Parts: sequence; structure tokens; C-alpha cells
Amino acid sequence: MTMVEHFDVLQELGLTPVWRLRARYRIDVAATAPHAAKEPTPAESDADAGSVSLLAVPRLDVVKAPQLAPPQAKVVNDSLLAVPQADAGNRAARIAMLDWAHFAADVSACTECGLARTRNLAVPGVGDPRADWLFVGEAPGAEEDAKGEPFVGQAGRLLDSMLAALGMSRTKAVYIANVLKCRPPNNRTPAPHEVESCLPYLHRQIALIQPKLIVALGKSAATTLLKAEASIASLRGRVHRYQGIPMIVTYHPAYLLRTLPDKAKAWEDLCLARATLLGILNTGVLQSTERDPT
Ligand code: URA
Repeated sequence: MTMVEHFDVLQELGLTPVWRLRARYRIDVAATAPHAAKEPTPAESDADAGSVSLLAVPRLDVVKAPQLAPPQAKVVNDSLLAVPQADAGNRAARIAMLDWAHFAADVSACTECGLARTRNLAVPGVGDPRADWLFVGEAPGAEEDAKGEPFVGQAGRLLDSMLAALGMSRTKAVYIANVLKCRPPNNRTPAPHEVESCLPYLHRQIALIQPKLIVALGKSAATTLLKAEASIASLRGRVHRYQGIPMIVTYHPAYLLRTLPDKAKAWEDLCLARATLLGILNTGVLQSTERDPT
């Protein structure tokens, strides 16, 4: 992406004047990747390293992602591949054994909850099946239900802009899924039994993808994966874990469309996500962790 395109993306996100990482994330990356960090400028040294971690600067050309270490082969996490019961009659066990070739068809044929009667198309997920990044939303809306693809409406366009601001797209190194694979009528909040019925599919996607990082978009995804009731505000700004995989919580793009000032906070969350992933890619370990509910 050219600098001009990059600027357009940030402008679309409402993030101009241009934002850049302040000392704290730089230090995190530096601590984990000695070759990746750049010396702070005097302006950055003035910055309060312990406070909010984004700083407006007039120039875009200094905003550079640290160098990535060469791609590593994925280490297979066996615990993600554990099958609950090797019993063909057990639905969860059957879903836990699905491969990609059969996954989408299985979701599309699912009638486990009432949403099967009201959906047009099931929405299994989209992206790179070996992605490092997994973004998880709540449930398909009307446009997703019509197209069979997650995040294709207005919120999806914002998500695409957020990905572009990170130099990514929904087809490259990213997979996008929802907790629910079918649209709740009138976009109502998913019922607990619907979440329970659908979760084996998300678990299977995570096991197949083995992402290095999960970004939970909104409260529904975050509290489902963390198995705990909490506000987004209380979950943001730190690294959680889902089955050992680092997880960052941020606002849902639909919320951001209604609450423009919080876009800057979402960008901060994405910067934390990127710094976390870069640290892992460069050292193979996560530096600081939160509780893992699984
Ligand atoms: N909101 C979501 O959570 N997921 C989608 O796919 C679309 C909107």
C-alpha cells in the first residue's frame, strides 16, 4: 500500500491526524525483538511510557511496522485438536473431526437450533485457513445472511479498513468468523442455547486454523470465548488467552460506527494485537499473559 493509500485508510477510520506507536509498545516489541525496534525520537522519549500508547505526529513516513522474522512453520497445538468423544453419534465429537473440505457444507446443513428455519444462508467464515490472525464477531446480519460471508455490510467495510490499516486484507493471513453461523432474526442478541449449539463449529475452526492471535470483536465474542461476563472496557488493553492462544478484545465495528470517538481506542487495541503477534513471531513466546479460562 502506498503512503497515500495508507493515509486514506487511516482517514476513513477517523484516525487522522496520523497516529503512531508511543514508547510503551515500542518497548514491548524491543524487549522481545532486539532487531525489530528503532531508537525512540526525542519526542517519543518525552512521552509518558506508562500512559495511553498512541501519539499524534505530523508525518506518516515514520510509521513503520517492525521487521517480521522470517515466516516460521506452524507448531501444531495438540490440545486444540483434542476430540471430546470419538463417538460418531456425538455431534460435538463429529464436528471436532471435520476437515475444511466438509466444514462449510456441515454448517450449511446444520439444523441444531431454530435459526436454521429463518436463515437464508449459513455463514461459516472467510479467509486464509492457515491465518495467523483470527477475528471473531457475534453473528451474521442481513447482508451476511444474503451473501453467506461474514462482515460484508457497513460494519464489515469498517473491519476491512481496519485490516488495511494494518497492511492486511480478509484474504491474506487473516480469517474472519462469528460465534453464530446463522443470522438471529432482526439481528437480536444470540440466545445462550444458540451460542452453545454453534460453539463446536468455532472451536473446530480455531483447531483447524491454529491462529497465533485471536481478536474478539465486541462483547459477545469476548465473553463467549473467555467464558466470563465482563464489559469491553474492562477487557481491553491486555492480552487474554483462549486455549493458550493470545487474545485481544476490542470494540465491535458496528459499535464503532455509532460511537466514532472510540475508533481511536480500537486502533490502540489493534496496535497492541500487532505488537503481541510480532513479539510472538520474533521470540516464539508471549511475554505477558492473562488468565486462560479453557
Ligand atoms: N456483525 C457480526 O458480528 N458479524 C458479521 O458477520 C456481521 C456483522
